Amino acid sequence: MKNQPIILQIAIPKPLYSHFDYLPPPNIKPKQLRPGMRLRVPFGSRTTIGVLLAVANTSNVPTDKLKAALAVIDSKPILPKDILSLLQWASGYYHHPIGEVIATALPTLLNQGKSDYIETPPNSHWLVTAAGKAINPKSLPKQQQRLAVLLSLLQQNPLGLNENEIALQLPKPRPTLQALKKREWINHQVLSPQASVVPALTLNAAQEEVVNQVAKKFEQFYPCLLDGVTGSGKTEVYLQLIQRVLDKGKQALVLIPEINLTPQTLNRFKERFAVPIVIWHSKLNDTERLHTWLLARDGIAAIVIGTRSAVWIPLARPGIFIVDEEHDQSYKQQDHFRYSARDIAIMRAKRAKVPILLGTATPSLDTLHNALTNRYQHLILPERAGSAVHPSFHLIDMRQQSRQSGLSQPLKQAIEKHLVAQQQILLFINRRGYAPVLMCYNCGWIAGCEHCDARLTFHDTSHHLQCHHCGEIRPLITKCPECGHLKLGLLGQGTERIEEDLQKEFPSARILRIDSDSTKNKYAMHTMLERISKGEVDILVGTQMLAKGHHFPKVTLVGVINIDSGLYGVDFRSTERMGQLLMQVSGRAGRADEKGEVLIQTYHPEHPLLNRLIKKGYASFANAALKEREQAGFPPYSYLALLRAEATDTDSAIALLQKAKTEALALNEAEEIQIWGPVPAPMEKRAKWYRAQLLLISSQRQALHNFLFQWLPKLPAASTKKLRWSLDVDPQDLL
Ligand code: ADP
Ligand code: ZN
Ligand code: ZN
Repeated sequence: MKNQPIILQIAIPKPLYSHFDYLPPPNIKPKQLRPGMRLRVPFGSRTTIGVLLAVANTSNVPTDKLKAALAVIDSKPILPKDILSLLQWASGYYHHPIGEVIATALPTLLNQGKSDYIETPPNSHWLVTAAGKAINPKSLPKQQQRLAVLLSLLQQNPLGLNENEIALQLPKPRPTLQALKKREWINHQVLSPQASVVPALTLNAAQEEVVNQVAKKFEQFYPCLLDGVTGSGKTEVYLQLIQRVLDKGKQALVLIPEINLTPQTLNRFKERFAVPIVIWHSKLNDTERLHTWLLARDGIAAIVIGTRSAVWIPLARPGIFIVDEEHDQSYKQQDHFRYSARDIAIMRAKRAKVPILLGTATPSLDTLHNALTNRYQHLILPERAGSAVHPSFHLIDMRQQSRQSGLSQPLKQAIEKHLVAQQQILLFINRRGYAPVLMCYNCGWIAGCEHCDARLTFHDTSHHLQCHHCGEIRPLITKCPECGHLKLGLLGQGTERIEEDLQKEFPSARILRIDSDSTKNKYAMHTMLERISKGEVDILVGTQMLAKGHHFPKVTLVGVINIDSGLYGVDFRSTERMGQLLMQVSGRAGRADEKGEVLIQTYHPEHPLLNRLIKKGYASFANAALKEREQAGFPPYSYLALLRAEATDTDSAIALLQKAKTEALALNEAEEIQIWGPVPAPMEKRAKWYRAQLLLISSQRQALHNFLFQWLPKLPAASTKKLRWSLDVDPQDLL
């Protein structure tokens, strides 16, 4: 045994499917090495930081060819075992390189090799840990007198003390505090607990039943779809379940879809709990992210609220996972490591043996299917909490309306009526800018993007043409480049044009446009929401930014300018998305006492699923949409993987996929996998890249994954400046 080599299996943040083998650094005893520690290693002509996955005795590479790692960065693992193991599982499931998966999950500063030790943030409270409580200060040796005094002081103050308070009894306490923290006898809390909290609401019967049912299952994996219309009190259910989790000394992780929802949700949590709450989203700086991550990992933060990548944040004592708006597309990462945070959260809850709540008014068909087949509990909140009632829906047949304006007569009349009644109006249009098409009336030429198969949108505020796919900006053209004609027309509507039409039509109305252009400024959204809630706005015009999360209690009329792109979209999920969006937008109406009204403009007023949606509601719509999926053999009745390729010339992407298909056919003797394509992507050219795809479908998840494990190593390692490919497991769209 003595001569067996020690081999370190290390994950390197590079697009390499496997780990890399190294010998231990000189002067390091193997016992000091544990999975989850970072090491500095030579890689090519440079050095890089990797994470130790395992220590082995054999390698596929001869031992004398292996390089030695240079140094161990950590004295103990930075990644707890459960997260390291989850990351390894995810790397297998998404067939994505383990080093890149780990790098996605770690805060940037840890990827860069910074310490996982938090310097004391200002105004923190110091608390004695469980380990610290168990120490008798008198048992410490004489030289450690200061440690003993401070430990005893904190033992006598279980609610914690801040540095100033401590300094009154022990001058200059900082080095001593750090020494005690290093021993893990004390810890600090960044957010000082507040004195008073807003009391919990009295639950209605449906809410109470949900809370009781989940609370019975706190010690097991209990996946639930919490299915309740907007305003039915889902958030209140989260809050009360979290309270019970906190009472048991455990932590809660809450995923939310959008950064612009964070302040609202966060405030509601902060008002309710006198515990440290940390947040995680893309607008935090690197230091803030590291703090959030460490406070959660070390068990100091009781509640973690965050967007997609928060799903990887370690928790010392996980008690419940909550995914709010589980249907939201933002949970799926759309580049590099294409994971679904919702699905990862379910796997985490399963491994941690705790409940997980997937809350939504409009369940994704995937989740709904899981609920209908009893894999998930289907918990329903049928009514709006408080007094609000459901809105009424009407379709407006646009075939009978003048095409001059985006606003039909019935919609204009309804706006007039609600303005007179001094109520707020929300108009939804899924396109920003002024007009999506600039066309020559003489020869039919249309302004297109040079880099994409897309048209340029005219923006009136900035007075230029813009491609919404690659961001390219062009000056407005006033003369047709084809025929020299000067009569160019702007066709179609965007938010800016609707705003202009409204202003002409209702000159005294106060109109506010909310889209990504008007809210670029960091505080713009906040200011606008404030104006709305103060009643300083009569008509809101906006994109889907308005559809999510916000409460507009004064809105009684919702107008949907054009629903049609969702009715016959190219993607198999288009209809599902349309239904969710429509319900979410209309959920903004009539949240308070007034009954809401929703008017939908369409050229397809006979569309069966649209009619089902507005007459029978989302559940009926979703059931019918599920039947269509079943007939088409699409998810959730099958499992998909999409191989995407892109190249700078027109043929290479298709050629690569054709080769991949030949390999696939050779492996697929049992024909368990259907192979569709290769075909050009629906928008073939985007941002100078020509894109194509090959779709794999299987009725068996395991068969698909077994196949992928065999197939992917046979594909060329193509990631050049001219050609690249990527795999998307469980793709959200085929675009
Ligand atoms: P959701 O998350 O489903 O949209 P919320 O929890 O935000 O619903 O509740 C909607 C509104 O109803 C909020 O203003 C909330 O304060 C109120 N509410 C929720 N539950 C109750 C209850 N049991 N009693 C009274 N009001 C409630
Ligand atoms: Zn022309
Ligand atoms: Zn473009």
